[in-house]
Amino acid sequence: MLFSTHAAYLEHLAGPRHPERPERLQAVLSGIKRYASADALIPLEPIAATHVDLERVHPRAYLDRIEHISTSGGGRLDPDTYASPGTWRAATLAAGAGLTAAEALRRGEGDAAFCAVRPPGHHANQTESMGFCLISNVAVLAASLADQGERVLILDYDAHHGNGTQDVFYHDPRVLFVSLHQWPLYPGTGRHTEVGSGAGEGFTMNVPLPPGTTGDVYLRAFDELIAPRVEAFAPTWLIISAGFDGHRFDPITELGLTSGDYIALTKRALQWAPPGRRIVMLEGGYDLDALAWCAAGVVGVLAGEDPEPIDMTESETSGGPGARQLDAITSFWRERQPDR
Ligand SMILES: [Zn+2]
Repeated sequence: MLFSTHAAYLEHLAGPRHPERPERLQAVLSGIKRYASADALIPLEPIAATHVDLERVHPRAYLDRIEHISTSGGGRLDPDTYASPGTWRAATLAAGAGLTAAEALRRGEGDAAFCAVRPPGHHANQTESMGFCLISNVAVLAASLADQGERVLILDYDAHHGNGTQDVFYHDPRVLFVSLHQWPLYPGTGRHTEVGSGAGEGFTMNVPLPPGTTGDVYLRAFDELIAPRVEAFAPTWLIISAGFDGHRFDPITELGLTSGDYIALTKRALQWAPPGRRIVMLEGGYDLDALAWCAAGVVGVLAGEDPEPIDMTESETSGGPGARQLDAITSFWRERQPDR
């Protein structure tokens, strides 16, 4: 498997005491170094996304504003999101990581890729930064693949709704966007009734789940709700928006997942696209231990190993709430036409 990261990602500074800090990436890297077998990883240097790449998603004026604020010393973009002098380069390299990985996978250089990037992207829509996100990394990749005729599944298991990614593809049947997230929680979107619109109706699937939801409910959502929709869609590529803030230790969310659950979920998801067509991109996750464990576990899965949960306390979880909510969402989708 390919492993992509860049030192420039540490140069994006979101402000003092901001949860989206460079130590997050360092935790991911140290976790992978410590727990995953580094021999299986092929390093891949990301190339920065070009304006052509970025403009598949974001208008020129929006990009120019971020670049200008960043390169003229930094400043606040919105209430949650700051740009520092290193932000523009970090953000374009983060968006470029997925594109670079897709090209390498197309050349047959690996079965899957993990892109350890920051800043994250899934809250940024076409014209608005928000929630620590400036450029929609996953959307830039998916838009490029879709323009090449691919059918792209984006699975977003970050604890927050991937509202930005959803907005970009809400009318677009080339991309199936699936988000599982805590509800209620920032940013407040992602109700199960948000299913896409126009030609894109049925190509957005939201699975809002209550605080405390455990891995058994997530797995059942994968098997009973998401898998049938994915099979009807028949994706040629899989992109995972991998936020690890669904971990029970995360300080800004309240879900009940462990690294063992993230391992099981990622294993399931990999079956939905062929080898060589699977890219995982880091989104959120704000507990440093959880980031290290989850990233190492997911990298192990991508490398084709059978990673054990990191320790006895990190086995798969069950018994939390969420079953009733999931049943309601599953009935809602069963009453719809499967693919229209
Ligand atoms: Zn998140």
